[in-house]
Amino acid sequence: MTAQLIDGIALSKSIRAEIGVRAAALAAAGHRPGLAVILVGDDPASAVYVRNKVKACAEAGMHSVLEKHDAALGEAELLARIAALNADPAIHGILVQMPLPRHIDPQKVIAAISAAKDVDGFSVPSAGELASGLPGLRPCTPYGCMKLIESTGVALRGKHAVVIGRSNTVGKPMALLLLQAHATVTVCHSATPDLGRHTRQADVVVAAVGRRRTLTADMVRPGAIVIDVGINRDEAGRLCGDVDFSAVREVAGWITPVPGGVGPMTITMLLANTVQAAAAAAASSA
Ligand code: NAP
Repeated sequence: MTAQLIDGIALSKSIRAEIGVRAAALAAAGHRPGLAVILVGDDPASAVYVRNKVKACAEAGMHSVLEKHDAALGEAELLARIAALNADPAIHGILVQMPLPRHIDPQKVIAAISAAKDVDGFSVPSAGELASGLPGLRPCTPYGCMKLIESTGVALRGKHAVVIGRSNTVGKPMALLLLQAHATVTVCHSATPDLGRHTRQADVVVAAVGRRRTLTADMVRPGAIVIDVGINRDEAGRLCGDVDFSAVREVAGWITPVPGGVGPMTITMLLANTVQAAAAAAASSA
């Protein structure tokens, strides 16, 4: 059996087209969605990420502001910038690109972003809303993974999902979103013995580890949905995920490639969250 490819680029395109329509309607009503992206320092990978986020905003007809600060920016100054953006009615989403220089506490920075503008979904209030099953802004990567799973047409109710990884930004929110979709969820991590014993029972596996070949073909149940969040480099320097793609695709029913799977969906869901935040602001001002 060769798995069907879940095409994150095509899915992103169609979701971004819908986002563009919603953004245009909000703009016509005087509430053009706006995203502020803050970059501190000169990490080259972060510079590419923020550029892509701002470009995607423009393509969706949204307002965006890119603030670049020197690595020496003080924590108090950054918190003051966030306070100003919290108060800016043209900005509905605030994203501070991680990692931050060591002298800045990322938890303090995330906590400073107003819950209504937390489009990364990383704050404690956003995490609490997700854990409590309340509406709110969901972390973009796991939110995108849910859309990729939905695109297969397989209903999650009653299915067994295994998440490999338990970070606050990917693994844990992923597990909660799957639980909310009525899957039975197992979360594995670095202290899990015999990972394959769990993954072999899974209808859905989400790998979010950051180590290539974490999931090999012998660890996958035939027909399973495999979502690969990992971003790694192979020995030839090519981008690859956590999944042994060429072998696993012969066993799985559906699989996301790297690149072209989860990556494009992360930015797409950032746009979706910004539109959602703008719509909420518009509704509360009506
Ligand atoms: P992270 O914070 O480093 O978390 C990695 C998780 O993997 C941890 O929970 C860790 O367990 C677990 N782990 C490590 N080795 C393991 C093993 N041998 N078996 C089972 N679990 C193991 O990373 P992250 O931020 O969640 O990101 C994970 C990967 O996704 C990275 O490659 C990252 O670059 C990628 N990513 C991609 C996107 C995208 O848009 N495509 C977005 C975000 C992240 P412990 O908790 O026990 O240490």
